[in-house]
Parts: sequence; C-alpha cells; structure tokens
Amino acid sequence: MLVLVTGGAGFIGNALVRRLLQQSHSVVVLDRLTYAAAPEALDEMAGSDRYAFVHGDVCDPRAVSRVFAEYQPDAVAHLAAESHVDRSIANPHDFVQTNVAGTARMLEASQVFFQALPPAQRHRFRFLQVSTDEVFGSLGPDAPPFTEASPYAPRSPYAASKAAADHLARAWSHTYGLPVVLSHGCNTYGPWQYTEKLIPLMLARAWAGEPMPLYGDGEQVRDWLHVDDHAAALVALLLQGTPGKSYLVGGRSERTNRTVVQAICRRLDQCRPINAPHGRFIVSVNDRPGHDRRYALDPSQIERQIGWKPTWRFEQGLAATVDWYLSHADWWRKKIDKRAHARNLAAE
Ligand code: NAD
Repeated sequence: MLVLVTGGAGFIGNALVRRLLQQSHSVVVLDRLTYAAAPEALDEMAGSDRYAFVHGDVCDPRAVSRVFAEYQPDAVAHLAAESHVDRSIANPHDFVQTNVAGTARMLEASQVFFQALPPAQRHRFRFLQVSTDEVFGSLGPDAPPFTEASPYAPRSPYAASKAAADHLARAWSHTYGLPVVLSHGCNTYGPWQYTEKLIPLMLARAWAGEPMPLYGDGEQVRDWLHVDDHAAALVALLLQGTPGKSYLVGGRSERTNRTVVQAICRRLDQCRPINAPHGRFIVSVNDRPGHDRRYALDPSQIERQIGWKPTWRFEQGLAATVDWYLSHADWWRKKIDKRAHARNLAAE
C-alpha cells in the first residue's frame, strides 16, 4: 500500500509512518508542521525511497489535490488536527478550521480521486478517519465503557470539532460511497509527544523542579494506550477495517490523572534522584472549564474482528516513556525554549 498520512509529523502520525515503513508499505506525509509537529522524528525515514514528505495544509485544496495527483495513494490516514483541549477552549476557531474544514477538504479530494480509480483499485481504497473517545462525552464512575453504539455527545470545542469531522466522514461514506473507516482512540502516550499534554508536561516540570499543575482533584479517569499500539491498530484498520464501520481503540488501562502523575514521579525518583521526591512538586490548580470526568472504551470489536490487542502494560509503557524523555531532553527543551522566546517577542 502507498498511504497518504496527514499529520504524519505529529505524535501518533510519526509512529504510524514508522510502522507502515517497517511493514514494507510506502508513505507520503502531508503536514503543515505546526508547533505540535516533531519533524525530527521523521529524520530516520528521509533516506527511504518508500517515503516522501510534503509540507502543506489540509485546508488548501490545491496542495491536497497535488498530493493525490502526484502520489496516487491506495489509502488515506487522516490524522492532521489541532489536538489540545486547552487550546480549543482558548481559541476554538483554529479547531473548526483544521479539524472540520480541513477534513471536508480531504474527503472531497479523496472522493474525486476515488471516483477516477479503476474498479480493482477502488475496491481496496480506504479513508481512515482518526478520531477520539472524547466525541462520546463523559462517563459516570460506574458506567460501562463506551461501545461503537454509544451516541455522540462532545463537550469541549476540540471534541465537538472532531465529532463534526466524523459526521462529515460518515456523510461522505453514506452519500458518495467513499470507503470510510473510523477509529476512536483513547488517551495515547509515548515518545515525541509535545510537552503540553499531561505526561510530557508533568515530566518536563518535574525534571526542572517546577510546579506540576494537576487540574482539580486529579480524579479524572482516562483510558491509556501506548502510541505504538495505537499505530498498530491504525495499520490493521487500513488493511482490514470494513468500510462504513467505526472501531474503538481502547487500552483497557483506566487510570486517574493523579495516579499517572504519581507514577511519573516514582520513575523519576529512581532514574533521576537529583530532585527526589518529585511528588512534592505536584500542585492542585483550578479545574479545566467543563472538564470531562471519565472516558473508557470497550475495544472488544477490534480485538475480535481485526485481531488487534494492546501489547504494552501501562506501567511498563510509562516507565519506557519517562526514560525516553530523559534521554531526549535536548529535543523537548529546545521546543520549550522556542515557545518561551516567541512569548517574550510577543510581549515586547
Ligand atoms: P499532534 O497535535 O501531535 O499532531 C498533529 C499533526 O497535525 C502535527 O504534525 C501538525 O503539524 C499537523 N497539522 C495540524 N494542522 C494541520 C493542517 N491544517 N494541515 C496539515 N497538517 C496539520 O496530534 P496527535 O496527538 O498525533 O493526534 C493525531 C490525531 O489522532 C488527531 O486527529 C487526534 O484528534 C487523534 N487522537 C489523538 C489522541 C491522543 O491522545 N493524542 C487520541 C485519540 C485520537
């Protein structure tokens, strides 16, 4: 397969690109390289003749149709998105633009390309819409996990923009016959994640001996999945997902935010005892407005029908992630410094 991966320089995107290349597929990445991108993660692919990178915006119809015309992909994995809930609360319009309008552009271009394919190639073409568990809203403490039949009930601007994109993808499938497969992944962790998300943010703060800001009572529950397992699920869905269907990609690892942050501190105490005990840096801060209390997914369908299962145990994956961030401090510290520099310039 030659797969067009939008957002391939992002956190999950680069893990997907690596896995596709390892499995002998070919990849073209389309990415705007926003602040969240980790293009350094793609450096190791640069020499491969099965890999190409296009710097472009999914909202730009000319850039998108050029990629289709030049590379003739067998499938699209659409990951490009604004992905941080806090930013969506501060500036929802960027999320509407990339996540909703950008998805509509990708669907439109995919449809035009798909219609022109000879029947044999049309048969195997897929558009994988990479979505999130957040579109289903918040669960009570004892409620059963979400299933594929759960209704959409997004509550943050981020979740609403992803839900809108999913509805567009379903509409393109139903109305135009585009072979769309939807995946709803849970909270993902691992290498190359930008230091605004919970795990790398807390790690960076603890590393520097700075306050680790835990929202509210820290008892919000998330289901956690290692990025390599998430990427494996996406490859499996590109190859085996049934058009028109959605699949929940859950890690069967529900943890409270407080438990996660304490586990990070324990690992740092072992590996970098200079600031131990790191738990003393945890501080409670005002909760995020409208903060969802619990997400959990039932992954039985993808396990049964596709044969995918998470392979990382959360504690093992988290320890490996802490170790990775410790050995890549140059990378994430450079990004933090760049951000601080931009803020200072803006303030001048
Ligand atoms: P990320 O923020 O790390 O990366 C997003 C990538 O998209 C970046 O490389 C960025 O440069 C690119 N991008 C942004 N706007 C673009 C545009 N207009 N045109 C082209 N490229 C653009 O995100 P991530 O965590 O890797 O998430 C990838 C996808 O998976 C998203 O669609 C997200 O909603 C979904 N998802 C993420 C998680 C998670 O826990 N991280 C869980 C479930 C689903």
